Amino acid sequence: MSHYLKQIELLRSLQKVDDDIHSIRKELEAAPQEVEDLRRRLAEVSDQRARQQDKITHLRDQERRLDTEIEDDSARLRKSKGKLMGVGNSREYHAMVREMDSLERVNRNREEEKVALSDEMERQTSLQAEVDARSIALEKELSDCESGLQSRMEAAEARLAALLLKRNEAAHEVPAPVFSRYEFIRERLEHPVIVPVANGVCSGCNISIPPQNYIELQKAAQILSCPNCQRLMFWIEASPAETEGI
Ligand SMILES: [Zn+2]
Repeated sequence: MSHYLKQIELLRSLQKVDDDIHSIRKELEAAPQEVEDLRRRLAEVSDQRARQQDKITHLRDQERRLDTEIEDDSARLRKSKGKLMGVGNSREYHAMVREMDSLERVNRNREEEKVALSDEMERQTSLQAEVDARSIALEKELSDCESGLQSRMEAAEARLAALLLKRNEAAHEVPAPVFSRYEFIRERLEHPVIVPVANGVCSGCNISIPPQNYIELQKAAQILSCPNCQRLMFWIEASPAETEGI
């Protein structure tokens, strides 16, 4: 194997370890975020529950108010009926009958209002049951996620520690100047550092490299950087379909 190819191979081995480190670091960042997302969703549902409770309280108040009004006017009606027989002249009698008719009409309207309120109460109560169920499910999900988080984080940290050791070994294999170049890029660019080029396209930035650079790359004489994204490149003789997963 040529000197060049050996170096590329060592860099790719190092990159493979860094790929694993990269995905574990992502996992470590994402795990607490899941708990945070669940907490936020639960807080939203709690707000919904409170609003739902307010609506139901408001409906109950309205029901109570109607009941009181119906009760008061019914008492007035009973009182008027009792007096009606004792009324002396017909003018007073008719005035009382008109007043009683009006009280009865108002109470009938209130009874209709009560039916509408009761329908609305039924609707709101079933909505409340839905929100309560959602809240209970979320609480369970959150508590499962929280209790799993600690062990997941510990497992990921342990894997990370093992990978960092493996990385040290892989890094030692790479000649110092090449390793410095790799590290220089790793510290400044998005993951990854070394990328395959197939059919003249850099897989780091998905941009075609100029023909002159492509010819140089295929000569396999020295390690080259992509003129666009600056990542280290190596040439693979393959169609795009075959490069998937590299
Ligand atoms: Zn590139």
